[in-house]
Amino acid sequence: MAEQEPSALKNIQQRFCPKCGKPSENDGLCNQCRVKNTEWVTCDRRVTHIHCPSCGAAKQVNTWTDTDRERADLAPELARSAVHFHPDVKRSSIAVTVLDLSVNRSRATLMIKGTLYGLPVEKECTVELAWHKEQCDRCNRITGSYYEGLVQVRAEDRLPSPFEIQTAGTIATHLEDSLQAGGERLSYISDVTETKDGLDITVGSQHIGLLIVQGITAQLGGRYTTHPKLVGEKNGRQLFRITYLVRLPYYQRHDVVLVGKNYAEVEQVETRRVRIFDLTEGRGRSINTDMVTRRIGNARLAEQALVAYVTGDMVGVLDPVTCATTECRKMPWLETKAGEYVHILRDGARLVLVR
Ligand SMILES: [Zn+2]
Ligand SMILES: [Zn+2]
Repeated sequence: MAEQEPSALKNIQQRFCPKCGKPSENDGLCNQCRVKNTEWVTCDRRVTHIHCPSCGAAKQVNTWTDTDRERADLAPELARSAVHFHPDVKRSSIAVTVLDLSVNRSRATLMIKGTLYGLPVEKECTVELAWHKEQCDRCNRITGSYYEGLVQVRAEDRLPSPFEIQTAGTIATHLEDSLQAGGERLSYISDVTETKDGLDITVGSQHIGLLIVQGITAQLGGRYTTHPKLVGEKNGRQLFRITYLVRLPYYQRHDVVLVGKNYAEVEQVETRRVRIFDLTEGRGRSINTDMVTRRIGNARLAEQALVAYVTGDMVGVLDPVTCATTECRKMPWLETKAGEYVHILRDGARLVLVR
C-alpha cells in the first residue's frame, strides 16, 4: 500500500490560525496575526549629531569627516538613522518633517510605511535631534599648536633661491590639497614661514612630511634626513616630533659655471657630479663638481640684450645697462641676427651669452 505524501495531505486540508481561528495562509499564524505579533519597526527617541564649530567636520562613531552640508540638509538623514526595520519588511518608505526648536535641538516627525507579509503597515514616530559641538581632532591640534613634523628646506653652502622657495611651497600645497581630498584629515599644513636660512613648513602628520621632502628632492635635487625628537607622552604612548631636513645641492639647474676656460650651463645635479652643457663648445658632458672653477649666475635670471650686428664668429651685443656695444664670441649653438634679443649673464665686466 502506497503512503500519501504529507504535502498532498495538507493541500486537501483547510489550515486554521491557532490565534484567531480564521483560515490561515500559513502552517501557523495567519498573516494578520503575524503582523500583530511582530515589532516591525523601532525608532530611537533621540539621535545626536556632533560637528566641529571651527571647520564644520562631522563626527561619526570616533571618526571625523569633512563635510560642507548644512543642518537643514543633514536633519532628514539623521532622523532616518533612528529607524530600525524588521528584516521581513518590504518596500519601506520614511517621510520626514523637521521642526527646529533651538540651536541645538530639532524635532523630527517620521511617517513610516512598508509591507509586511503582504499587508501594508504604517507608523508615526517622533525623534529628537541633538546638535552637539565638539572641536575636531584637526582643529584641536592646530589651536593647541600640536604638530607632528617640521619640514626645513635649506641649501648646501648657500641660501635657497626664490625659485626653490616657491617651488618647495607649491609642492607642499599641492600635496596637502590631494591628501585632504583623499580624506587624510591630519595631513594638513599649519604654518609656512620663510626664515633667514630657507623655508619652514609645519605639518600635521608624518605622512605629509615625508611626501613633501620626497617631492622637493625629486624636483630640485639634494637629500633629506629625518630627525625624530621625543617630546612627551600621550595616552601612554611616546610622542615624537620629526624634523625633515632637506639639503638642496650647491649647484642648481641652469646655473652657469666656469669650467676651465669654458662657460657651461648645469643641466642635471647628482651627488658630487653635474651634467653640463658646455656653452663654448656647444655639447653636453658630465663632470665632477670639483672641476668647476666658480659659478657666475643662473640662466633663469638672465637679462635680455639687443643684438646690434653679427659678423663672422662675433656678435655685437648692446649692454642694456651701459648702452655700450660689447663683442662676444658667437657660440656654436646660437642662431641670431641684428635686431633680435639674446640672453646674457655678467661675469665681472664680461657678458656671457646663455641659452
Ligand atoms: Zn490569525
Ligand atoms: Zn574642526
